[in-house]
Amino acid sequence: MNSSAIQNLEGQTMICQFHNNQIIISINLNSTITGDVTHMCNKCLVDKTNDNNILTIMEAKEQITSYKKQQQQKRANEIEIILTQLQNLFENLEQFKFKVNTVLQKIQNELSQLIKFKSQELSLSENC
Ligand SMILES: [Zn+2]
Repeated sequence: MNSSAIQNLEGQTMICQFHNNQIIISINLNSTITGDVTHMCNKCLVDKTNDNNILTIMEAKEQITSYKKQQQQKRANEIEIILTQLQNLFENLEQFKFKVNTVLQKIQNELSQLIKFKSQELSLSENC
């Protein structure tokens, strides 16, 4: 055990040299044999487990927040696509309605002319 490790054991707060602002919480007593890091913060310990499924609480919280944001964004995008499709459908229906109305109006006008014509025809034939 080197002198800085002893200082840490005596209660001095040390900061990890690899992970920004992380407080040293453990000391590796085998470091001189293995050549590993002597002083370790919680992130060093997690890294040492060599398992990608293990995260610090902060990392897990960040990952959950990020996942939630992604899901919210995905849902918002889906809603936006559906909304655009509905708006397009609405506009197409408006245009179709206008065209049908125009055609129906034309047919109605022709019928009206025909009724007038036939009425005149009838009155002429009665007067003969
Ligand atoms: Zn560290």
